[in-house]
Amino acid sequence: MPELINTTTSNLNIKNIQLLTKKYQSPFWVYDANIIRNKIKLLKQFDIIRFAQKACSNTHILKLMKKNNLKVDAVSLGEIERALFAGFKKNSNEIIFTADLFDEETLSKIIEYNIPVNAGSLDMLKQLGSISSGHHVWLRINPKFGYGHSKKTNTGGENSKHGIWDPRLALPIIKKYKLKLIGLHMHIGSGVNYEHLKKVCHAMVESVVQINKKIKFISAGGGLPIPYKFDEKPININKYFTLWDEARKKISQFLNKPIQLEIEPGRFLVAESGILVSQVRTIKKMGNKNFVLVDAGFNDLMRPTMYGSYHHISILPKDNREIEVNKTIDTVIGGPLCESGDIFTQEEGGNIQTRKLPSIKIGDYLIFHDTGAYGASMSSNYNTRPLIQEILIENNTFKVIRKRQTIKELLSLEE
Ligand SMILES: *Cc1c(COP(=O)(O)O)cnc(C)c1O
Repeated sequence: MPELINTTTSNLNIKNIQLLTKKYQSPFWVYDANIIRNKIKLLKQFDIIRFAQKACSNTHILKLMKKNNLKVDAVSLGEIERALFAGFKKNSNEIIFTADLFDEETLSKIIEYNIPVNAGSLDMLKQLGSISSGHHVWLRINPKFGYGHSKKTNTGGENSKHGIWDPRLALPIIKKYKLKLIGLHMHIGSGVNYEHLKKVCHAMVESVVQINKKIKFISAGGGLPIPYKFDEKPININKYFTLWDEARKKISQFLNKPIQLEIEPGRFLVAESGILVSQVRTIKKMGNKNFVLVDAGFNDLMRPTMYGSYHHISILPKDNREIEVNKTIDTVIGGPLCESGDIFTQEEGGNIQTRKLPSIKIGDYLIFHDTGAYGASMSSNYNTRPLIQEILIENNTFKVIRKRQTIKELLSLEE
């Protein structure tokens, strides 16, 4: 039954969530480590799995990734420091910095830590090369077309700020500063369409031929989708791998040397491992519309407001009453923020939608599913709301992996 939470297949079951709601103040995030490990296994054909940590950058999640032999991508100095804190090594390719620009502080730390750079602009190469000759670099290439689940996640084409348009222009800079070019990278938005993917793989081969340098790695980037809705199918990893593997073989043949194939997923590894638990605090009618307001807002879970993303919502009744799943009400679900966009049931563009949900009572818990990716990591302090707890379930034990921030901590920055 779609409106009920899963009772059997994972640690994110009714019994565990009930226990957690007794112990912790809502709202809070919960992750199941087993789900992450199972997703990692699905990618074992790739030579290197590099976790795009921006999807879920908690250091305990990063440690779990490290334990499972993953490498990590960082897109800011903060993410580099997180990776180091979690045990990833400097002076190696365990951490790669991907960006379209450097700020000065980040640039100097990257040189100090000797972290390879996946450059999305020619200026980055110049700025790095002029003070760090010999530094290992990748080129992030814009293949001149894009794809994504929303305009905001499309990462290729003329309307994307990401990547280098003509990688041939990078060559004189690389030569001048004796940078070491080790890999080519293409991250083409979120979502997969296999016909489109073929084009991306072809563009990768073309770029290698164009540049004709003895690189070691190619990266397929991230963007592997997960089924957020019941009627969506999971991605066929074999098909995905096969297309990239064919590109790798062509490249290997052309350069006459082995090439390692990297993949760089964020969402795929963590989205399904996480839920957001919130409590219903107000139920009210606005004309004919039924509003249910919970204690979590878009400062906690940003995706519906930002992209019109769909998250499945289920109910955990506070009083253990039987939920009447066949009798549903068209319901709008919103949060506490002083902002009309604080609605979890909306389309891209902001049109309010309703969800068919069983009768809900004050005090019930609403669970937002598949929020392990771009959930906690996108949260903000808007409306002066402290960041909420993150809890990891591992071997049937609950571990608070991030404490709830206090208002005092927030205010202390302004002392
Ligand atoms: C965001 C990002 C990813 C991960 O994207 P997902 O859609 O979460 O898989 C991978 N690589 C780069 C460079 C990114 O910016």
